[in-house]
Amino acid sequence: MIHGDDSEPAAGAAAPGSHEPTAPGPAAPGSQEPTVPAEPGPALAVTEEPTATEPAATAAVVIPQQRGPEMYVPPPFSAPPSPYQYGAPAYPPPVPPKPRRRGLVISASVLGTVIVIALAVFIASIGARGPNALAGAGHPLAGRSGAAANGEAPKGDSISDKILGALQQQSKALLAGDQAGYSAGIGAGLQDGFNRRFGSLRAMGVQTWKPTLVDKPEQNTDGTWSVLVRWDYCFGQGCTVLFPQVVQTSWTIAGDKATVAKYEQTSEPWDASALQTSVGRRVIVAGSAANASKLQRVVTKADAAADVADRYAHWDPAPKWYIVYIAGASEWTSWWDNGDIGASYDGYSTGPRGIVMQSADATQQWLQVLLTHEFGHVVTVGEDYGTAKDWWMTEGIADYISDRDGTTMRGRLPDVRKFVKKGWNGKITMGPPPENASDEEIDARYGIALIAISCLAKKYGEPKMLDFFGDVVRKNVPLESASPSRFGADWPSVEAACEAQVRNS
Ligand SMILES: [Zn+2]
Repeated sequence: MIHGDDSEPAAGAAAPGSHEPTAPGPAAPGSQEPTVPAEPGPALAVTEEPTATEPAATAAVVIPQQRGPEMYVPPPFSAPPSPYQYGAPAYPPPVPPKPRRRGLVISASVLGTVIVIALAVFIASIGARGPNALAGAGHPLAGRSGAAANGEAPKGDSISDKILGALQQQSKALLAGDQAGYSAGIGAGLQDGFNRRFGSLRAMGVQTWKPTLVDKPEQNTDGTWSVLVRWDYCFGQGCTVLFPQVVQTSWTIAGDKATVAKYEQTSEPWDASALQTSVGRRVIVAGSAANASKLQRVVTKADAAADVADRYAHWDPAPKWYIVYIAGASEWTSWWDNGDIGASYDGYSTGPRGIVMQSADATQQWLQVLLTHEFGHVVTVGEDYGTAKDWWMTEGIADYISDRDGTTMRGRLPDVRKFVKKGWNGKITMGPPPENASDEEIDARYGIALIAISCLAKKYGEPKMLDFFGDVVRKNVPLESASPSRFGADWPSVEAACEAQVRNS
């Protein structure tokens, strides 16, 4: 949608940014040292935390989708190949355009920053069922020692138990910082991947790394055994919300020993890249070596952004850690199989798993706005998300949260006015910009969304605006029902009032 701006990245660095007076200088020497607490101590306790994604041992296995961004065209899923089935992707998630490069912006507007910020892309919490689960809901999950839970003797000699035992050894070694132990039971050709994974996970401050066999191992014609493995993990000291990852593995079994023969390489950032981190009060900022010098600067801005976003954590507790991945050009298109998103965007959110921003943007003046916008998605949408018709609310609220001083609003108003003049239909309930939308139209749509959310907050107060948002986006309550219950007014009258604000803006 917005191209060409990528051809002038150099212009981006030089602009004034009056809304970012606290831009820090270069990171202090040594500050890029990873400082993520590495103590594995809390792991056990954390592992026991109930999570929404934890399947019951006797229930059909439902694997929450682990891929992050969900684009207009669902990208390939990184881990489980067919026979996995994915539920309907929620909607073409907001595909916000990249904020224009500053040089372009300045030439276009004396207002400076016209922020057409990155997007909300949400984890599709789509159930994917393993073949066994499909075939037999209610079966104890292989490898989960359902027998033990039933008081029967564990089948210590089963293939499942040998594999699970090896996985548990890996987990123990990882959490203990024992790299040799972590990669002890792996076959030829897997060392690099295991080393990279170990380094990244340790840098991210992995606290829980809990294996489960998703299905029953099946023997291949070459004698190896294949099984899907689910890891539940979290990052940062004290983390409690576990994220699932499912990988395809195969194993060689010799006597009691299970050795990894194949291990799927996924596209999660910490798996695909060797990451370093800098850790702030509330954030873990990660990037590969090429972007290590940018980490600390982003930490400073991200901590401030987290403070703002926290105030809008209206439904769930604020994240213990906000996670930021800084992507180089190739990482931008490969992490989370995100090839469809294109270089025209600056950032996206995968909910609590983290946000991703382009490395070039780590030096931009509007960095804090970008981070606050994306963190705004994390706290408002989480891993739930609405439908395409909710676009105006999901983007409007992220802009609302990040627009602390009105800069975003001012930057967008000229395009809003032009759009209105061209014959806007008066509907504030806008969906994502069409693929062929001009920069101006995209900007106008974001602007109208921002005005609409601001209108609701001003008219009814922020708490009611948030309740209304939660009803509509998170619970899929129709506007027509949510409006009377939250605002005490029918939706047409509310929309008319906010429409008037757009027209008078
Ligand atoms: Zn957004």
